[in-house]
Amino acid sequence: SSDSTPIRATLFPGDGIGPEIADSVKQIFKAADVPIEWEEHYVGDQIDPRTQSFLTWESLESVRRNGVGLKGPMATPIGKGHRSLNLTLRKELNLYANVRPCYSLPGYKTRYDGVNLITIRENTEGEYSGLEHQVVRGVVESLKIITRQASLRVAEYAFHYAKTNGRGRVSAIHKANIMQKTDGLFLKCCREVAEKYPEIKYEEVVIDNCCMMLVKNPALFDVLVMPNLYGDIISDLCAGLIGGLGLTPSLNIGEGGIALAEAVHGSAPDIAGKNLANPTALLLSSVSMLRHLNFNDKADQIQSAILNTIAEGKYRTADLGGSSSTTDFTKAICDHL
Ligand code: NAD
Repeated sequence: SSDSTPIRATLFPGDGIGPEIADSVKQIFKAADVPIEWEEHYVGDQIDPRTQSFLTWESLESVRRNGVGLKGPMATPIGKGHRSLNLTLRKELNLYANVRPCYSLPGYKTRYDGVNLITIRENTEGEYSGLEHQVVRGVVESLKIITRQASLRVAEYAFHYAKTNGRGRVSAIHKANIMQKTDGLFLKCCREVAEKYPEIKYEEVVIDNCCMMLVKNPALFDVLVMPNLYGDIISDLCAGLIGGLGLTPSLNIGEGGIALAEAVHGSAPDIAGKNLANPTALLLSSVSMLRHLNFNDKADQIQSAILNTIAEGKYRTADLGGSSSTTDFTKAICDHL
């Protein structure tokens, strides 16, 4: 696509603060003249038998048809007989990679400067395969599944991402010295893919050493690719390096090139409906979505406006120590476009 072809994208405003921060995205996209038409879908108030969850079949079809979407936080209703919303999305859309850009926000001081890395987490297998059972009383077993197919798929995504986003290095994070078969296969697949990308430097880092390096000097890393459990932990660790979940965007990649961007945080019921929410994480997720669509000029423009607004410090929401409302902060970003 180019910066002028209109594209339809699915929007799940979600629950709690979701609709407020989704409004912020819609306003800013309009102000920046982004050629995206939103197809809005809300979580239903009863279980759709076709998805066995509160997500409607139509909303999933919308993502499949458009190939791209943005999702606000969803509060999974408590009760029996339905699948979790996030699990339904992951399974139905086969979202196999979770991509989280993680960079220092200029002017927002944390313990670290110059963080600029991407974590890419395999999202379908590993310890999250749900295969746990009791062998005999007092002994339980959990199966960690690693397949060649899923490992190659996520490795391929990581190298392709590095290449198309001007990144120079991919680090595979593992514990293959202990998990010789499972992590060993994961590494083997990464190496195979690395050979197809001679221009990208490839390295393997043991997870414990990786954690130490990340907290000592996160600037050592560029793109990190890893199995499910390590990715779950490392991606939150990285979010902490730059100031927390309220600032961290993510992009889920599915089979057939589907991309569903989402903020990492939840529906924040404590501040919902009060015009207090920080829309930054959802906004930066929408920027990831734009980059996925190759709308790079628009992505740069919106990202700069967000970063400049935060750096200037005049308009910041309460979570960043300011006193601006969601709408004032949004307006300030529009003025910076
Ligand atoms: P949460 O992320 O909603 O809130 C944790 C704290 O962070 C709260 O104090 C909240 O006010 C604050 N916060 C979060 N996002 C913020 C933002 N954008 N701006 C300012 N402050 C923000 O986590 P929780 O309270 O554990 O979960 C609430 C609900 O969200 C639950 O129903 C949970 O299931 C759901 N949830 C959904 C997702 C998702 O859809 N991906 C992820 C996590 C939690």
